[in-house]
Amino acid sequence: MEKNDLKALIEEIYENLLERINSDEKATKGQIISYLKDAIEVVSNINDKDIDSIEHAKEAFNNSYKELVKQSLTSYKNTNDKFGELTQLNKETMDQCGEKHINLETLTKKFNEIQTHMTEEVKKANEVISELSNKVKVLEQTSNLDPLTKVLNRRALISYLKDVCANKDIPYSLHVLMIDIDNFKSINDNYGHITGDKILIFISNILRKALRDGDKIFRFGGEEFTIILNRNSDEQSEAIANRLLKLISSNNLIYMGQKISITASIGLTKFLQNDTPDSLMQRADKALYASKNNGKNMVSKVCE
Ligand code: GH3
Ligand code: MG
Ligand code: MG
Repeated sequence: MEKNDLKALIEEIYENLLERINSDEKATKGQIISYLKDAIEVVSNINDKDIDSIEHAKEAFNNSYKELVKQSLTSYKNTNDKFGELTQLNKETMDQCGEKHINLETLTKKFNEIQTHMTEEVKKANEVISELSNKVKVLEQTSNLDPLTKVLNRRALISYLKDVCANKDIPYSLHVLMIDIDNFKSINDNYGHITGDKILIFISNILRKALRDGDKIFRFGGEEFTIILNRNSDEQSEAIANRLLKLISSNNLIYMGQKISITASIGLTKFLQNDTPDSLMQRADKALYASKNNGKNMVSKVCE
């Protein structure tokens, strides 16, 4: 990552943080810490020298996100102010009752009014929450990151492969690894879905640490990951794939004192001239299928 990219990213984070503090009268230390934690996560996910991922990190602090935060703060503040007013009204009503003879009819009327106001405010707040949740969904759908593992998602893979296939004269070799975790259904059945999710995060971290800058990791879907290796020979790519399998199977995951054994299977192929995203992925799939059929926890290749 270049110094200028680093500076631009830090400026973005800094400006965004200041904006958040300015837009919230009662910004707390806790909110700042939580924002900085988000920032650390986004920055650690940057694949060095990978322009897409730097752009992506910036995107994580983009305007729509800021706008959402601003809207939720404003709506929270409005509801809060309204509750403040109602509480004051409540207090005044009670004080009046203390001074004078209690008029039960007026008192009931007043409390009914307060209750109607509160119900309306809660209804409005719920509408804002549901509107914001829909916006978050749209943001997720237009994002390139997988929300669970924070590696690139299938949309990003398709767009990357389209670019690669449109450029017929790539001057270097490009290999595709299709990784599928073995028997993941029984892992979920034995240890629960939440543990399954943690294992997916664990595996993506292993992949992230093991690969070089410029290699790309995508979550293809479910328990399947796709890796694009740049500038390696067939032999080097196969060695990398085998190394990944070793790292995955030699993991040290313990669940309730019991070691969880995880393995994966890999299908390896390389980009050939005139490939389309479909033809490339079909070969990777075919290779993966061979690994699954021949006993799993292995690499198979189909390179033509
Ligand atoms: P194989 O060795 O042939 O790949 O068997 P498998 O059990 O891994 O494959 P199968 O396709 O039968 O099951 C995949 C399982 O992955 C089923 C599904 O519940 C689980 N899965 C998919 N996505 C997620 C996820 O996001 N979180 C969790 N915890 N499980 C997931
Ligand atoms: Mg699968
Ligand atoms: Mg599987």
